[in-house]
Amino acid sequence: MHTFNSSAHRGWEISGAPGVLNHSMLTHRSLSEQTIPILRDVDVLVVGGGTAGAVAGIAAARQGMKTLVVEQFGFLGGSQTGALVTPMMPNQVEGVPLNGGIDFEINTRLIERRESGVWKDGNRGWFNPETLKSLLEEMNQEAGAELLYYTFVEDVIVAETEVRGIVVVNKAGRSALLAKRVIDCTGDADVAFRSGVPCEIGDPETGKNQPFSVRFNLGNVDLARLAAFLRSLGRHDVMEQAEGTDVPLIHTAMVWEKGWTLEPLFRTAVKDGVLQPTDGNYFQAFTMAGRPGELALNCPRISLETDGTDPFHLTRAQMQARRIVQRYVAFFRRYVPGCEQAYLVMTAPMVGVRESRRIRGEYTVTVEDVLGARKFDDAILRNNYPLDVHSDSEKPMPGGGRLPAGEYHEVPYRSLVPRNVENLLVAGRCLSASFLAQSSIRIQSNCRAMGEAAAVASALSIRRGITPRAIDGRDVRAALKVQGGRL
Ligand SMILES: Cc1cc2nc3c(=O)[nH]c(=O)nc-3n(C[C@H](O)[C@H](O)[C@H](O)COP(=O)(O)OP(=O)(O)OC[C@H]3O[C@@H](n4cnc5c(N)ncnc54)[C@H](O)[C@@H]3O)c2cc1C
Repeated sequence: MHTFNSSAHRGWEISGAPGVLNHSMLTHRSLSEQTIPILRDVDVLVVGGGTAGAVAGIAAARQGMKTLVVEQFGFLGGSQTGALVTPMMPNQVEGVPLNGGIDFEINTRLIERRESGVWKDGNRGWFNPETLKSLLEEMNQEAGAELLYYTFVEDVIVAETEVRGIVVVNKAGRSALLAKRVIDCTGDADVAFRSGVPCEIGDPETGKNQPFSVRFNLGNVDLARLAAFLRSLGRHDVMEQAEGTDVPLIHTAMVWEKGWTLEPLFRTAVKDGVLQPTDGNYFQAFTMAGRPGELALNCPRISLETDGTDPFHLTRAQMQARRIVQRYVAFFRRYVPGCEQAYLVMTAPMVGVRESRRIRGEYTVTVEDVLGARKFDDAILRNNYPLDVHSDSEKPMPGGGRLPAGEYHEVPYRSLVPRNVENLLVAGRCLSASFLAQSSIRIQSNCRAMGEAAAVASALSIRRGITPRAIDGRDVRAALKVQGGRL
């Protein structure tokens, strides 16, 4: 068996102030080296099988690369499936999607199964997360990518400045995975950060992250009665029959003092002690294609401890959310027509993290690039989704946060290429972008596009025998166009 000599040692010793955890350290007594097995040595290693990573796996394997996708949970899709984030937000100009390639293919295949629908304004990203899990697995397997679930990245293997692989932990213990190229799709830039890539986190003005949301699904809802009730309340609630699915499309929301028609009901529920005032800081509900009788809730919002790289913040978010969800369920049953017999289907196993670490790459996308609709020769995606910073203080967005009508900006390949280390690319919400620019680019279709671009660039760089940094991004763009990228 191949083995890898890690620098970790057995023989731990506690030092520092006894009993004071934060001032104590655990150190190794023994200097003997630990040997761990090398489980795989592949061309492209995708770390994190989420929104970007699942697509990176498909794209790399389609390029003929020996590909392995490593994921901490037992399914693909990340925030889309594990954090129950549905639907995809629109990214299109005059009804024409700006993302093509594998993103378009996934949406088309879901529509063929009647498990996605064309949402308002031609957005094709209204989907059933359970079906998406299966489809992403199928597409990875069809392409020839191998998947490894229940495996968490613990460390990176870096020689000089070259990333050679990662150390992982799972049921089998600790092991190494080696690769010619690694694509960090962890959302939190876990691999890049541990490799020494400079990262930023949060809003530089306030030091705060965007709030988390721990989403949940509600079952046994009479959607026809709910739709009739919402329609009777008048404007601000969207109800349409979406193409491609039998489920009526319902979207409603409530945020205090924004004119939402559900506000009087929320006020009554607060007066009756069923809800607390903070429960109305952000509430949003959608139906899901392929899931009659269900609602997907984009709440509760968790605003105080919101560092997605802090396991205690993540733990307390889940616990706090579960209590709030019980209040929302009681609210639905007592006050909302069509929901009298509703029950909680599930709370999301993943906390919904809107932003955490953002790498510093060869190029950092700025808010001026976004709002100024800037174009790049080495573009790998086009975006016109507005700036979207969730916060309880509702800070006004520069320029109203929107791009000029009918316009889009581009994201260059260089924003996926981290500084300081070689053989590593990132894809997803942790790209190199400012806090405000990231709030616009982070939507799911763009994360998928980044996954595809990073995979194509990895394959190109392997074939040419040069580093991803040395690749001319215009070649990545050209290769993406050949396979359906709208660039
Ligand atoms: C509450 C919320 C609402 C949103 N609403 C919308 C919306 O309506 N529409 C829209 O288009 N976008 C929305 N977004 C944005 C969008 O969903 C995300 O930005 C996007 O899905 C992130 O994709 P990603 O690939 O970067 O990360 P993810 O999809 O989160 O994937 C990261 C993957 O890496 C895995 N992972 C992480 N760390 C490790 C590790 N150390 N070892 C192994 N595996 C690891 C995770 O389990 C996960 O599978 C929302 C986001 C949130 C949080």
